[in-house]
Amino acid sequence: PEAREISVNEMIQEALSLLAQKSRYANVKIQARLQPGLPSVKASPSELQQVLVNLVNNAVDAIGAAGGAVTVSSERVGDKIVLKVADTGKGIPEAELSRIFDPFFTTKPVGQGTGLGLSICYGIIHKLGGQISVESQLGQGTTFVITLPAASGAA
Ligand code: ADP
Ligand code: MG
Repeated sequence: PEAREISVNEMIQEALSLLAQKSRYANVKIQARLQPGLPSVKASPSELQQVLVNLVNNAVDAIGAAGGAVTVSSERVGDKIVLKVADTGKGIPEAELSRIFDPFFTTKPVGQGTGLGLSICYGIIHKLGGQISVESQLGQGTTFVITLPAASGAA
């Protein structure tokens, strides 16, 4: 897929609109906290979209019937763009944290998860010269943090 200079904020808005219906059904409130005027990033739009959709999809899945919130944020930190996808879901047990980026690792019922989403995210982000990490508190929620190099132009 062709890399070009794209707006992370536009990608986030698109991903959130793709998942709006699912989040309503799941009783999940989605919030975007996007820093205006961010530099662009050099990436394939479809690949970056795939990363965002995977992360937000997982975040919605992690929230139980009582509902909750998913917050997607963007900001510039020096010459990097930092994206966060935070949820108020069930969290990830310590023993699983080191395995979630492995291909085929899933805790979802057969037929509901391939376990490929996060390994694909990891591959795409590292190919772009970025990093992806996770912080989680069992019973409190999970935050995925992506760091990407800013491109020279404005988005
Ligand atoms: P899948 O969604 O098909 O299970 P992923 O690679 O997307 O595969 O995720 C792997 C596993 O990581 C999930 O099955 C789940 O156990 C865990 N996980 C990922 N994101 C979250 C999250 N936001 N909250 C809790 N667990 C998560
Ligand atoms: Mg997934």
